[in-house]
Amino acid sequence: MPFRLQIEATRGAARAGKLITPHGEVETPVFMPVGTLASVKAVSQDTLEELGVEILLSNTYHLFLRPGVETVRRMGGLHRFMSWDRAILTDSGGFQVFSLTDLRKVNEEGVAFRSHLDGSPHFLSPEKAMEAQIGLGADVIMAFDECTEYPADAARARASMELTVRWAARCKNYFEEHKHEVPWSSHQPSAISRQEKQVLRSAQDNNRLYDNRGEAHSQTQSLFGIVQGGMDPELRRESAERTIDIGFPGYAIGGLSVGEPRELTRDIVLSTLDHLPADQPRYLMGVGTPEEIAQYAQSGVDMMDCVLPTRAARHGFLFTSEGKVSIKQARYAQDESALDPACDCRVCQRYSRAYLRHLYASNELLAQVLNTVHNLHFYLATMRTVRAWIRAGHAPAAGASQM
Ligand SMILES: [Zn+2]
Repeated sequence: MPFRLQIEATRGAARAGKLITPHGEVETPVFMPVGTLASVKAVSQDTLEELGVEILLSNTYHLFLRPGVETVRRMGGLHRFMSWDRAILTDSGGFQVFSLTDLRKVNEEGVAFRSHLDGSPHFLSPEKAMEAQIGLGADVIMAFDECTEYPADAARARASMELTVRWAARCKNYFEEHKHEVPWSSHQPSAISRQEKQVLRSAQDNNRLYDNRGEAHSQTQSLFGIVQGGMDPELRRESAERTIDIGFPGYAIGGLSVGEPRELTRDIVLSTLDHLPADQPRYLMGVGTPEEIAQYAQSGVDMMDCVLPTRAARHGFLFTSEGKVSIKQARYAQDESALDPACDCRVCQRYSRAYLRHLYASNELLAQVLNTVHNLHFYLATMRTVRAWIRAGHAPAAGASQM
């Protein structure tokens, strides 16, 4: 089965369905937890599976520096390296490199930068970013783009958008020539996971399963294009059209959440969505709060990622059905109630606010683990509710009660 978005229900501009990837199906709209260094900070892969995570994001820039792409490639790619059989998306490194304001130099060829770790010099170009992402072997990889800074004047925003379009074409060319080099392609039989081997053993006489396996591993990664254009809806439209002309199996909206007001983010997202193909996945990068991800999913976004739930958790900020809770506050010191009485995660089922507050105040590692589990569960549950709302589109009463 080739990579695709299978749309199963729509409600207004929103759509619910499945993203079919070489490493399993992903229910959409989906929130993707961020595992910067091939690890979602504070939680293990089995916890992510238990939470129902079907796809996670990893950062090429960070893995490029440490442990290095070649190490991951030799270990069979990210899936095998981190023992994660489900889908993965990597970003191109562009966003991180561009946030190294004082450490980078951009020209037509690419970006020279210095590592934030040790100051060592490196270079990323569209071709290098593709080579790195093919070596890492995520299911979905991203074109190398220039993230336009905010604010940017009209000339700067246009020049940046045009550079991103030229780089997108170079990314596609390199990818088409090298996509068979992914570590888990059919040329690499060792990439079959332990779990898959078990499935094969237990179903030796089941030809259908065997065929599916063979098919899955003859697949390649999918390269998404990225729409830029700063905060100008017209430039965004032009960027979308020219990126679609190059031709990708999915499109992302990049360059947002870079310091602009929230309402402006929303306006740009909504106007850009109108210019993206209706039958292909739409990925909004690096956004947002639980309310925002629900709104964007209801507006027709299929995929989102954000460090907010995991980063906030590590700082003691927890998202609940009653609003944001700062668990470090003294008022929770003797609070016996669950963090969120409406939450069915295993943290809220088992522990009191008083205990979570104590763990945080005492700097216990468990505080980071439990806070992250709850926040991720809250984000994933938010998306489950939106999916149910979309699927109930033709039964307004049920839909109303779910939202
Ligand atoms: Zn909870």
